[in-house]
Amino acid sequence: DARKNARAVVAKAAAGEYSQYGACTRFDELPLSKKTKEGLRKAGYKVMSEIQRAAIPHALCGRDVLGAAKTGSGKTLAFVIPVLEKLYRVKWTKMDGVGCIIITPTNDLAGQIWDVVNRLGTPLGFSGGAIVKRNGIDDEKEAINRLNIIVCTPGRLVQHFDETPNFDCSQLQILVIDEADHMLHRDFQSQIDIIISQIPKVQTLLFSATQTKSIKDLARVNLKNPEYISVHEQA
Ligand code: ADP
Ligand code: MG
Repeated sequence: DARKNARAVVAKAAAGEYSQYGACTRFDELPLSKKTKEGLRKAGYKVMSEIQRAAIPHALCGRDVLGAAKTGSGKTLAFVIPVLEKLYRVKWTKMDGVGCIIITPTNDLAGQIWDVVNRLGTPLGFSGGAIVKRNGIDDEKEAINRLNIIVCTPGRLVQHFDETPNFDCSQLQILVIDEADHMLHRDFQSQIDIIISQIPKVQTLLFSATQTKSIKDLARVNLKNPEYISVHEQA
């Protein structure tokens, strides 16, 4: 079952199985599923951006990643690809429930990220959606445990932890925090604390446009030996 597969994947990654991919420059050189490669090709993505080259191989190894690169540098694919491959490798299915949560500061961003996840992930057989305010909360309560990949704001997720009986994240495989510099500060702090307390410790990918290096902030999300990746592309 999925949990046994997950252990096998972690063991393989620990044995360095994927470390040879650090020098890859193109998506088709990476050890990705056929369908992910096909989806990337159809969408016209060939050459990886710098943050993608630096982050994806580590993330595929199951490591926690803290990636910083400026806006527009391609951070979305840097986490969407590892998310899809993780669920693919553990043979996650629609029946297995919530496998990934992607948290982002706004409903608009959640919708945009979901579009990318949907385009590449639906051929792999994963379900999911952006859970955002314009959906009725009651419809979401019905559907949420059937979503393999949830994209949402911290506020909406906390609302489900509060209000949705049987909301089950106990089998979560991977957590993504997008725009982490915003999420670990100010208004979002207490919501992130609630989320972290409600989910198991799993592989965590944090991405932001600026360095998030405050130890106090990172302690909130409990990263495990993270790879710190900072990309400053030349102007
Ligand atoms: P960020 O989150 O870093 O601000 P996005 O992930 O939103 O950046 O990507 C910015 C734009 O770059 C998007 O339009 C996306 O489709 C495009 N893009 C991302 N990666 C690549 C790539 N490897 N090749 C070509 N275009 C890409
Ligand atoms: Mg982004």
